[in-house]
Parts: sequence; structure tokens; C-alpha cells
Amino acid sequence: MDNGVEPLDIALAQLETAAEMLQMDPGLHQFLKTPKRTLIVSVPIRMDAGNIAVFWGCRIQHNDARGPFKGGIRYHPCVNLAEVTALAMWMTWKCAVVDIPYGGAKGGVCCNPKEMSKIELEHLTRRYTNMLLDFIGPHRDVPAPDVYTDAQTMAWIMDTYSQFKGYSVPECVTGKPPVLGGSEGRKEATSRGVLICVREALKRLHMKLKGSRVAVQGYGSVGWNAAKIAHDWGAKVVAVSDSQGGIHNPRGLNPYNVFEHKKETGSVLAYERAKNEVTNAELLELDCDILMPAALENQITKENAGRIKAKIVGEAANGPTTPEADEILRENDVFLIPDILANAGGVTVSYFEWVQNLTREHWTLEEVNRKLESILVKAFNDVYQTAGEKETSLRTAALLLGVGRVSKAMEALGLWP
Ligand code: GLU
Repeated sequence: MDNGVEPLDIALAQLETAAEMLQMDPGLHQFLKTPKRTLIVSVPIRMDAGNIAVFWGCRIQHNDARGPFKGGIRYHPCVNLAEVTALAMWMTWKCAVVDIPYGGAKGGVCCNPKEMSKIELEHLTRRYTNMLLDFIGPHRDVPAPDVYTDAQTMAWIMDTYSQFKGYSVPECVTGKPPVLGGSEGRKEATSRGVLICVREALKRLHMKLKGSRVAVQGYGSVGWNAAKIAHDWGAKVVAVSDSQGGIHNPRGLNPYNVFEHKKETGSVLAYERAKNEVTNAELLELDCDILMPAALENQITKENAGRIKAKIVGEAANGPTTPEADEILRENDVFLIPDILANAGGVTVSYFEWVQNLTREHWTLEEVNRKLESILVKAFNDVYQTAGEKETSLRTAALLLGVGRVSKAMEALGLWP
């Protein structure tokens, strides 16, 4: 991303802080700085126009000390190696913070899905899967959705993988459609997790969700579901945005109607019941109680952090806040729920999906949500308590927990040979 701060520099600086505080062995620190495996692929597909186009793609497998690699696949025109490496590292810590038995990975393909047909996206997904075939699988590396990939993308991955195996392997990927063994509640799990964390944060601040004013940046799956759940739980959604810009109404917007409007027109802009339109940058600075960045990295920086009015920031996206901005928010007493905790609901329900697939079970939505709630509330309490004990931010506390668990696992495994 632009704005001058690279996600990988942020991820490495965070690891360094945690390593220092944990007094980690320097060799182990060195080990965790770089991914275990980096796969780079060129994905050729025939476009609808008849020409061949070649797309750059990668899969970064950061660490698998605690279990198979796990993480989403992102389709975006700005995807690059350093960014995906940072995202893979964050997955490692995230899975450890919620204590699910996975390592961390992330994949990316540099493309513009908005300009591609469904057939082109299917061919891209199948060919990309084929090129990763020897390196993914239910006990190796389990992909999932991320920015601009969805349940349909996961269905194509499952089918391609299964075709090569010769039998159906639903457990090779998560975030599938329920009809293929996708878990109940996976689609909105990331957003539900953010709201569970926000609710816990509100309790600490002696505030209530009911009537709280919420602004959401991004109206993809995570942003829209976050706005919807906030609304359903009694909050007032005062602003939402997508890549084209945002809409604002201090009296509240109905996220369901905004979703219908976006479905019809392609954007949240020009929604008739909005009071005014705002840019994505302006949305972050609006007068509200809870801000949920649910788009890309590097949104809250040293330039705008001082103007954030929200009392709680719930990082639905990965890496939306830079370290300088972290400091400013902390000085201003903004309660920041860090990404590796706030958005861990997605991978948690991915884990439930994988367990259901491996055991050929199907859990009800109630069961999924109950288990999600208990994992996230525990993780939130662990992070909050660690922050108190170490007199540090929730971000650093979450890193201490996540990085600490991974390094303990690595020490227990030892080094082969
Ligand atoms: N892409 C999501 C994330 O960043 C979900 C990963 C998963 O479910 O494996 O957490």
C-alpha cells in the first residue's frame, strides 16, 4: 500500500517488540522473521477475449509449529510479496491468540476481480490451486477467503483439489458454501467476532452498544456484516463506505437497505437516505463511538490518528493502523482492539468448519456461535489481562500472547536434524 509504511515493516517491528519483551532466543527470533516457505507462481489463463493473460500469485507459509498453515487468499490489483508475507505472519499470531491448532499463511493473486468475468475468475482460481497442489491440503495448508474472494472461490478450490485427488476433500479449504460442507455462520464470523470484542471493550468502558454510534470503513463481506450485526444488536450505524467513498447520517443508516442499494448500483454512494457523502479518509474522523476499519492496511496513520474521535477502534481489517498511529491513539485513550484479536472470529469458525469436515459432522448455527463466543471472550480476557500485567497496549499484549505461544511450541518441537 502507499502512505509510506509497508505492512511487512510493521509486522517485523511488532515481532521485534514481542521478541524483546519475551527475551526470545535471537536465533528463534531470526527464524520467525522470515516465512518457512514462499511460493511464487505465474498463473496463465485464457481470457474471454481469446488472449492469454498471466497473473502473478504467491502463497506464503509463515509458520506451522502449532498446526497446519492457515490463511486466506486475496485477489487485488495491489497484492505484492511483502504485503502477503506480513499478512501470513499476522495469521500465525492470530491463530495462537485464539489458541486454535494452526500456523499462519496467506495467498495472493495480483488481479482486478472487478474487471474479470466469472469464468475468468474460475479459471484463475483453478489454475492457481493446481500450481499450489503439492503444498496445500487438509494437514498441510488450508486456504480460506480474504479480500475479493468468497465462498464460490473456495468451492472452485475444493473441486480442483478433489479432482486431482480423485475423491471429495472438503477439509482442504474453509469458507465454502454450506452446501459443500461450509460451516454455518462462517460468512459473518469475522464481523461477529469484531462485535463480540467491541461489546467486551464497551463493558470495560462502562458503555453500552445500544445507541452507540458506529462508523464502518469498507462494505465488503466483513464491513457489511459488521454494520448489520451492530445494527441488529442495537447500535446506530452512522457511516459506511466502500472503495468509491462513504455515506454519513448522524441519525443512523439502515445497513440492510444500504446493502440492497450497493447490490443495485455497485456502490454505497448516492444512497438516498444519507445526509452527506464523505471520503474514506473523512469517514475515519467522523464523530462516533466505535470505528471499525474493515478494508485494507494503512488507514489510520500518524497523519490522521490525532483526529480520530471514536472511543473504540475495532480492527476488522488486517493491519489498518500503523505503529505511530498506535502511539497517538493510546495517548488519546482510544480503546484499540488489535486485528489479531478483533478479526480472529473468521479463522476461528474456519477451524470449526475444518473440524466438522474431518469428522463429517454438521453443527447448528447456535452451536457455532456459542463456541465462537466462548473462544473470543476468553482470548479478549487473556489479552486484556496481559495488557494490565505488562502495562502495555492491547496490541502488544496480543502479540506477546501469540508470539509467546508460537515460540514455546517451537522450543518444544526442537530443531530437526
Ligand atoms: N482471511 C481471513 C483472515 O485474515 C480468514 C482466514 C481463515 O479463515 O483461514 O483472518
